[in-house]
Amino acid sequence: MSKITGGCLCGEVKFEVSNDFSQFHLCHCAQCQKITGSAHAANLFCQSDHITWLSGTDKTKRFDYPNRYFARVFCTECGTGVPYLVNKGKTLIVPAGSLELDEDTVLNVAPQDNIFWHERAPWYDAALDAPTFAGFPK
Ligand SMILES: [Zn+2]
Ligand SMILES: [Zn+2]
Repeated sequence: MSKITGGCLCGEVKFEVSNDFSQFHLCHCAQCQKITGSAHAANLFCQSDHITWLSGTDKTKRFDYPNRYFARVFCTECGTGVPYLVNKGKTLIVPAGSLELDEDTVLNVAPQDNIFWHERAPWYDAALDAPTFAGFPK
């Protein structure tokens, strides 16, 4: 099973995870918008023993949202969302953006759905139609 490396933006937190994911959901719920500061979360799911932490676990903090099955673990230095356990420790959720992917790395799953679609940001439909640029706009 091939391994994919991942980590946070500042470099404190590093891990390796098997490219053997069971689910890949884009979540547009109001809580995911708030906690990512963006349109949606992009969460991969896998078995909890598929990760090897390489550094920085002492630099992470967990936030559990009250009254709902929802959590976030992030680097206390840079705020990047990093993998965390749910389902009584049986399942690992890996924020897709925390993975270091290049053109040669193909995830074993593609995004399978957009969930909580009715809660999506009111500007999201327009964003899908916006022009693209390789870098900053000209
Ligand atoms: Zn960091
Ligand atoms: Zn969500």
